[in-house]
Amino acid sequence: MKVIEHLRQAKGTLLSFEILPPLKGRDIRSIYEGIDPLMEFKPSFINVTYHREEVVYKERGGGLLQKIRLRKRPGTIGICAMIKAQYNVDTVPHLICGGFSREETEDALIELNFLGIGNVLALRGDAVKNEGHFIPERDGHAHAVELIRQIAALNKGVYLHEEEQEAAPTDLCVGAACYPEKHPEALNLDIDIAYLKQKVDAGAAYLMTQMFFDNAKYFAFVERCRAEGITVPIIPGLKPLTALRQIGFIPKTFHVDLPQAFAAELVKCRTDAEVRRVGVEWCIAQSRELRAKGAPCLHYYTMGRSEAVREVLGQVM
Ligand code: FAD
Repeated sequence: MKVIEHLRQAKGTLLSFEILPPLKGRDIRSIYEGIDPLMEFKPSFINVTYHREEVVYKERGGGLLQKIRLRKRPGTIGICAMIKAQYNVDTVPHLICGGFSREETEDALIELNFLGIGNVLALRGDAVKNEGHFIPERDGHAHAVELIRQIAALNKGVYLHEEEQEAAPTDLCVGAACYPEKHPEALNLDIDIAYLKQKVDAGAAYLMTQMFFDNAKYFAFVERCRAEGITVPIIPGLKPLTALRQIGFIPKTFHVDLPQAFAAELVKCRTDAEVRRVGVEWCIAQSRELRAKGAPCLHYYTMGRSEAVREVLGQVM
C-alpha cells in the first residue's frame, strides 16, 4: 500500500521507521535484528536510506595513492523488497539525484515498480565529501523537484527517449524531504518553503521532516507551509539521543538546535547511559505532544539503534 493511502485511511497517528542498509560485507541478519524488536508496534511503513558513493584514497606502496569510489552501504532496493516479503510491511526506498543520470534513475524506478514497491522518497542528496557543494551527474538532476517530475512523468507512462504511445505507467507514491529549521543551503525559510511548494506541485504526496528536538518549530513550520498553500501531510521525524558523541555531531550534521531545557540536561551528562536516559525521556515527551496534537505519523530515525526507539514506543503507543 502507498504511504499516502496509509495516511488517508488512518484513524489516528501512524508510526514508521527509517533504517540504514548494513555496511558492505555485513550480513542481512543485521537488518532483521534491527527490525524485529520494533515490529510489535505495527509500523505502517519502513524507510530505507540510500547512501551515495564516497571517494577514498588507498595506499598502494611507493608513495602512490589510489583514488577509489566506494559505496559503504549498498542494497537499498533489495533490502526494501526483502523486508516487504519477510514482514509483509510496506517499504519506502530513498532515491537521490547525486550519482545518478536520468537514465539510471529511470532504471531504478522501473525496478521498484516491477518489485511492487509502490513508494519512493525523492531526495537530492548531499555533496560528496571533499566537494564544497552538490554537483549533479552529467544529465542528472540538480534538485529533488526534477526527480519528482521524472517520477510523475513515468507515472503517466512518459519514459525517457521512448516514443511508444502505449508505454505502461508506473504506480509510485512519492514523498519529499522538508526542514522545519531550514535546509542549511537555503537563504531563508521563506525561500526554502517556496521551493518546497514546487516539490509538492510536481507530485510529492506527503513531506517528511528532518529530525528536530523542538516541537514548537515543527508546529510553526506546518503553519507556515499551510499559509503558503502546502496542504499535504507533513510527517515529523524524531530521534532519541543515546550517546555522548551525538551531542556534538547531531546539531552540526543535521543543522538543528537543541532547545535550552533539553540542552541544560544533556550538558550535565557524563556517560552514554545518562544521555540515553535524558534523550529517551525527551523523545517520549515530544512524541506524546505530537500525537496529542494530531501529527499524521511519528517517524523514527533508528540510525541502526532500535532499542531506544523501542523504549520510546513502549511509553507512547
Ligand atoms: P532539494 O529539495 O533539492 O533542496 C536542496 C536545497 O536547494 C534547499 O536549500 C532548497 O531550498 C534548494 N532548492 C530546492 N529546489 C530548488 C530549485 N529548483 N532551485 C534552486 N534551489 C532549490 N540523503 C541521502 O543521501 N540519503 C538519504 O537516504 C537521505 N534521506 C533523507 C530523509 C529525510 C527525511 C531528509 C529530511 C533528508 C534526507 N537526506 C538523505 C538528506 C538530503 O539528501 C539532504 O538534506 C540534501 O542536502 C537535500 O535534499 P532535498 O531532497 O531536500 O533537496
